[in-house]
This record gives sequence, C-alpha cells and structure tokens, in this order.
Amino acid sequence: MSSSSNPSNTKSGYEVRRLQLEPTPQLDALVRAAGDLYTRTVISFWRTVRKHGLWLKPSAMMRWHTSDQLHAHSADAVVQGFYAALKSWRKRRKTDPHAKPPHRRRRYYRVQWKSSAIRVQDGSLVLSNGRGHAPLVVPWSWEAPVLVELGWAGTAYELRAVYSRPTAEPVTAGKVAGVDLGEVHLAVAHDGERTVIVNGRKLRSIRQYQNKLKATLAAKQARRKKGSRRWRKLQRSKRKQLRKLDHQMHDILHKQTTTLVSTLHASGVQTVAIGDVRDLRQRVDYGPTANQRIHQMVTGQVRWMVTYKAKRLGMRVELQDEAYTSQECPRCEHRHKPRGREYLCPACGFRFHRDGVGAINIRRKYLGSGPVVGAMASPTGVRWHPHRRVCVAR
Ligand SMILES: [Zn+2]
Repeated sequence: MSSSSNPSNTKSGYEVRRLQLEPTPQLDALVRAAGDLYTRTVISFWRTVRKHGLWLKPSAMMRWHTSDQLHAHSADAVVQGFYAALKSWRKRRKTDPHAKPPHRRRRYYRVQWKSSAIRVQDGSLVLSNGRGHAPLVVPWSWEAPVLVELGWAGTAYELRAVYSRPTAEPVTAGKVAGVDLGEVHLAVAHDGERTVIVNGRKLRSIRQYQNKLKATLAAKQARRKKGSRRWRKLQRSKRKQLRKLDHQMHDILHKQTTTLVSTLHASGVQTVAIGDVRDLRQRVDYGPTANQRIHQMVTGQVRWMVTYKAKRLGMRVELQDEAYTSQECPRCEHRHKPRGREYLCPACGFRFHRDGVGAINIRRKYLGSGPVVGAMASPTGVRWHPHRRVCVAR
C-alpha cells in the first residue's frame, strides 16, 4: 500500500490522499465484482433500449442490478458510473458527431466507498463490503475521508481518499521506525522491536572498482595524444564502462531501499523518522575529500529514495536531528564514542550493533521517550542479490 503524504488540492476545494496498494486477491475480487456489475448494467441498459425503446432510470437500474461482494452504496456507485458516462456522451455528441455512447463491457471497474461504508478504527481505514465479505482494511493514521475510490494506476492499485476540506495533521504517528543512514551500512532501521540493516558492501565494492577503472583508463589515455583517434576511442570506452557501473549502483540502491521500505511497511510502520544527515561530517572521520562528496551523494540518494518510497506506501516521513545518536547509550543515556562495529556501554553494559544504536536513538528522540528498557533482538540484514525480485514497483 502507499501514498503521497502531501495530498493534492483539487480546484473544487477537495483534497485527495493517494495510496498505492499491491494487488491482492481481495482487491482483484472487488474491482472484478465492480466490472461485472458495470457490464451487466451496460448490457441491460442497451437491451432495454433496443427491445422496448426505453431508457431505464438509474434508480430502476440500481434495483435491478446489485452485487453480493460490494457494499450496497458501492454497487450503486458503479451503476451511477455508467449513467455518468451516458450523460457525458449525450453532452459531447452535440458538438462531436463521432462521439460514441458507453457500450464497452468492463472486466474491471473502479470501486467507490461512500461515507456510510467508511470508518477509521485502531489506526486502520476500514471499508465495508457486501454482507459476508470481509472489509478492506488499510493502515491509516489520518481522519476518515468522505469518499474512497479504488482504481488501477498502471502497475498497482491506487486508493484515492477524498476529503471535503484540507486534512489536518495525522491523528496518530502510528508505529514509528527510526532510520540511520551511513556508509558501511546504507541504512539501519529500528521500529521498537526489530532492527533491519541494509548492507552497503556491494555498493562500495563497485565504487572502489569504478575508481580503479578511472585511474587505469586515465593512465592509458595519457599515453595517447589528446584528441587523437586512439584517444577518442579510449574516451568512448571509458564513458561506456563507467555508465554501466553507475547503472549497477543505481539498481542496488533502488532494490535495497525498496526492500527496506517494504519490510518496514510489512511490520506496520506508519511514520519513518530519518536521521538528519547534514552534520554527518562532524560525526564520522573521513579520508579524502572526494570520498566525502561521493558519500554525501549516496546518503542523499538513499534518503530521497527511502522518503518517496515510504510516502508512496502511505507512511509519514520526518527528519530527526541525529546529534549524538551514535554515541548515546539507549538504555542509560551515557555518551561514549564506540570503537569497532559494536557498541558497548561502559556505564551499564548495554551491547548492540553500533549502527543499530543510531536508529534506536533516532526513534527514541523522535518519540521524545526516555531510555529503552529490556533486551533488543539482534539486527537482521538486507543484502543485495543481483537477481532479487522486488514486488514493490520503483
Ligand atoms: Zn548504558
């Protein structure tokens, strides 16, 4: 599922919050039930016109055709959809002699829920369907919309929640994950229970190889006369090889961030607090300046990708000042600079993966809560596999 967290304003003063939903048997069944109802409406309407010369009214059609699976008002909306198309054709044909009436059968049709079928309960949007059919439940941290529509948006379903006035801030933050962006690990997320680590090793090795390649090719080129045929040939080859590596890195970033975001989403996270990386340089000791630049670029990209992918899944994304988050002990708030990959608190003995500590603290600061208590589960990793198939579209 997903969304833009800044809902778009339409001219009429309505506000629409859009969320993407991955196809599920339930969603498929709903749009198919609507398609079936629409098709029955189309057939009956034109058959009645043909056989009896009668244009049935929408109310008569709504009584005639209903659907088991859809809420009564959702079923009415499908029939109304046909009549709206009919009306638009009658208007169009006044100026366009080639305008065609709505004749086409639909395998799928959009499903609408009116306010009578919409409620928000325990952080979920609950959309009622026909009697005996499970409601559609979507994690939700906002108020109840007045109208909800489910349609197909090319690669996934899109849920459009319509508000009659500008929506307020989310009513709850829901489950919160803290995300720490870094070098060795591209990102580490902690949601209060689990810690997920996105490994950056493969990306780094490609980057190192890219640097080596640049140096080798530059040395080769230096032996040729600048602008000569040989020189230009080398130049072309260099560009091609470097571009290929760029694509590989981009692909890794996409797959890694998609996996991270879908993992968070699957565990019910509704708000993602990302450590603000602007003062990162003071925090970590870097080598050459060039590395800093590249690193900042990658962190920025990871942050950007995590942000838009999380928003698309309906999550709220916030930046959290991450000062001292890598040093402070999540249990006793004692500060010390960890050595190596493990954080071990000299004051209370708290022991955890170093990068995990940052994510735990970012979450803790975002929530404004005190020290964490109890044991923490060991982090799980998200590694990059060349043939990983991600189910969430980019
Ligand atoms: Zn401690």
